[in-house]
Amino acid sequence: MPLVSAHSLILQSFPYSETSKVLRLFTREMGLRSVIAKGAQRPKSRFGGILEPFTGGIAFFYLREGRDLHTLSGFDLLRSRQGLGRDLTGFAGASLVAELVLRYATEEPHEELFEALEESLDAILAAQGEGRERAAFLAAWRVVDLLGFAPRTDACVTCGRALDAEEPVRFDAAAGGAACRDCRHSGRILDPASRGELGSMLEGALPERPFADPSAQRALLRTYLNAQLAQERPLRSLELFLQQVG
Ligand SMILES: [Zn+2]
Repeated sequence: MPLVSAHSLILQSFPYSETSKVLRLFTREMGLRSVIAKGAQRPKSRFGGILEPFTGGIAFFYLREGRDLHTLSGFDLLRSRQGLGRDLTGFAGASLVAELVLRYATEEPHEELFEALEESLDAILAAQGEGRERAAFLAAWRVVDLLGFAPRTDACVTCGRALDAEEPVRFDAAAGGAACRDCRHSGRILDPASRGELGSMLEGALPERPFADPSAQRALLRTYLNAQLAQERPLRSLELFLQQVG
């Protein structure tokens, strides 16, 4: 069994047997991996209680080819991000992006996604007040985009016509994005400002001001994730997050 090392972000950590923990890691070099940290629940564990969600570091593990669970040998802490656990909005936003990555990432490396996740968690942690909510929305849409599920915002999903930036439209979550009013006759109007904010978040830019209509942003995230990413299995952190920001 080769000993490998990988830049890792702990996305999930749960007890396994009396004394051990299983971690789901998203790594820069090897995508999504599961490792067992033997003895990690013991009071004097050599892992020292650092193996918690959103912690970043270098994981060393024995790679068992063809297996799903590898054995953690060491973890060099780089960023603990413990502050995320002290703020429910930040924690719920971070949990949502983690859940999306856990559900859709694979063992294939996805360096851009790894960097975006690290940046996003740090940005959520650093933001203050209402900005924390915006940082979490940005994080969610960036991850949706990098996982390959971005909604269309600049053209109608039905007829393909380019949409004017000032044009009120509707949103067809099941069809994958904005729809012109000729194609979609009913449903809530998506105002130009909210559509612009969504478009910039999908390009990785944080809207500079508080959302023009926070309830429109909540509705977009809820309907789109439920239609395109949750499918049969609701995303547990989505409602938790929306409750915090609602
Ligand atoms: Zn149309």
